[in-house]
Amino acid sequence: MARRKAKDQPRFNICEKCGKQFTPKLFGEGRRYCFECVPDGMADGSHTRQIIKKWALEYKGTKCSRCGYDKCIEALEFHHRDMTQKEFSISDRNIKLEWEPIRQELDKCDLLCCNCHREIHAAAKFKTLIEGENHA
Ligand SMILES: [Zn+2]
Ligand SMILES: [Zn+2]
Ligand SMILES: [Zn+2]
Repeated sequence: MARRKAKDQPRFNICEKCGKQFTPKLFGEGRRYCFECVPDGMADGSHTRQIIKKWALEYKGTKCSRCGYDKCIEALEFHHRDMTQKEFSISDRNIKLEWEPIRQELDKCDLLCCNCHREIHAAAKFKTLIEGENHA
């Protein structure tokens, strides 16, 4: 198995997400993420959104940052604290599997359960209503 090809090509890749070394299964496989970050068989693009959700939840702590709700990950959502800073949505269907831009976007977001999320938006709406239209 450990048969080396002549060239000085390294036998491992560095995961672009966690920075760990890993050995791609196929020699020269252009895998950018280790098997922990992107499970085997999920690197073909059809699981991108699933993987990103997993990354995002791990990064944000897998619970509502407001009330601590953690029972069902389907009920957790990403809320942009400042919509003017938003570049893309974490749940965008065209999102690319690129950790760095996703991490930057996550830094602008809070992880909220759907109840807290609705409440925050409702409160913001109400605030705009009472403070007048020049409030962002
Ligand atoms: Zn990794
Ligand atoms: Zn909550
Ligand atoms: Zn929101």
